Amino acid sequence: MTKKYDLIVVGGGPSGLEAAKTAAENGLRVALFERKTDPAKIQRACAQMFLMNMDSFYNERMYFSREQRKWVFPVNNFTVDYGGDYREFYGCHFIAPNAEDRIEIGDYEKNASDGGTAAVVFDKGALLRGLYDGGLAAGVDFFLERNVTTVSSDRGGVTIKTSEGDTCTGTFCIAADGINSRLARLSGLNEERTFLFTAGSTSYYVSGVSFDRSEMICMGNCFDDGGLGTVHFCMLPSVYHEDEYWLYIGGDEKLDYFTRKSTFRKWFSGVEVGHKRCAVISAWGPAREPFKDNILFVGDSCWFAEAENTGALLSGHKAAMAVCKALHSGTADREGVMDYISWWRIHFPGTHNYQDFLCYAVFFRIFTEDELNYVHQLITQPLFWSLNPFNLYGHIMQGLKPHMERIQKEQPRLAAKLKQFSPDRAVPMMKPATRAGFPAYR
Ligand SMILES: Cc1cc2nc3c(=O)[nH]c(=O)nc-3n(C[C@H](O)[C@H](O)[C@H](O)COP(=O)(O)OP(=O)(O)OC[C@H]3O[C@@H](n4cnc5c(N)ncnc54)[C@H](O)[C@@H]3O)c2cc1C
Repeated sequence: MTKKYDLIVVGGGPSGLEAAKTAAENGLRVALFERKTDPAKIQRACAQMFLMNMDSFYNERMYFSREQRKWVFPVNNFTVDYGGDYREFYGCHFIAPNAEDRIEIGDYEKNASDGGTAAVVFDKGALLRGLYDGGLAAGVDFFLERNVTTVSSDRGGVTIKTSEGDTCTGTFCIAADGINSRLARLSGLNEERTFLFTAGSTSYYVSGVSFDRSEMICMGNCFDDGGLGTVHFCMLPSVYHEDEYWLYIGGDEKLDYFTRKSTFRKWFSGVEVGHKRCAVISAWGPAREPFKDNILFVGDSCWFAEAENTGALLSGHKAAMAVCKALHSGTADREGVMDYISWWRIHFPGTHNYQDFLCYAVFFRIFTEDELNYVHQLITQPLFWSLNPFNLYGHIMQGLKPHMERIQKEQPRLAAKLKQFSPDRAVPMMKPATRAGFPAYR
């Protein structure tokens, strides 16, 4: 292959496909390399929720237009067509181990009734299919089943090589190769970043689920004295079948305990697992800037764990437009794509602290079973409706604030734990717990 491209995109997830399509639609010669056979075939776990405009996310107020079947990004002024199925849901509940008490994020009843603000679970395969077809129509050269193994930059541009024997050069490259980005490592971007942790996750599509107010995302912990210890779960409706749910839980044994033996077993009857998806995350602190030697980094590749589909589409789009501008103004270098670099710095690390994201994932793990049951019955009113993971922890703390005096009086040990917990405790707690508890709480 000798053709020289304006832009090479590595990775065909939401960020890479959006970048390639946008650049080609705006007149650039684009090649995209993806190691999967079919970019639209989902292999990696994803809950497939789209955050909606109830809360700002990367300073965007994205929403779904049911009429136009589009994801709309009104602040950044672009849309993404979506022809797939979707399923609305109405709240986010943190559920106590007693499977009854809950901290409610969003007013379920109000959101479920006409005029409320619903959130959406979508079919990520359909989203990717639409982006891929749009890229093909715009003239992107797709190279599938290609694993990019090396990248180098010189005055001629950026050259990548694949394990299948391809060599390809572009004036710019967009690295959209996801959370475990090889390009971030090869280009030296990770040398400026702090390694945080590695984590594996398993999720299951399960049927045979039925419980009250079930069109929501719910999260919680239950406790097995028999050896599994704390069992954390997160569950939300599946877009594929009506009685099917996406259940994120730490493996087969925990799935069995949760659905058949725990206090939550009343939610399940004749559980069947449709399919299972996994993900391994190597989490690094955010890059200082999403650029190195004419490689622009987008999506998960330069952030800390998950840019989410919103952040992936946004950054892919913005990076592509910056490359268009750079090439058409004759500044094919860092200065030329400064719009993207500055935008990313302001709207990613400048707006969201990754530790806040991790906080909501680990916060409830500091409590014992009894303490959790106690905490969950304190907040009786629904809290601000948000699915922005960077803000969830803050909303819960706001909800607990008026009860602090009571907690201090009734449960001083619990009050001390609450005071001791801070966002910088979240990273050590992402490391596996031992019998002695989580690393930050020993
Ligand atoms: C358990 C879990 C639940 C999640 N839930 C949600 C959710 O509900 N909502 C949400 O918005 N987000 C969610 N996310 C996050 C979301 O999936 C990611 O943030 C998003 O997919 C990032 O998009 P991306 O394009 O940056 O990377 P990816 O989607 O990871 O795409 C990277 C692509 O690059 C390809 N690739 C990698 N290396 C190479 C190489 N060397 N050569 C060629 N190709 C390569 C891969 O095959 C892949 O297709 C979740 C993630 C996890 C793990």
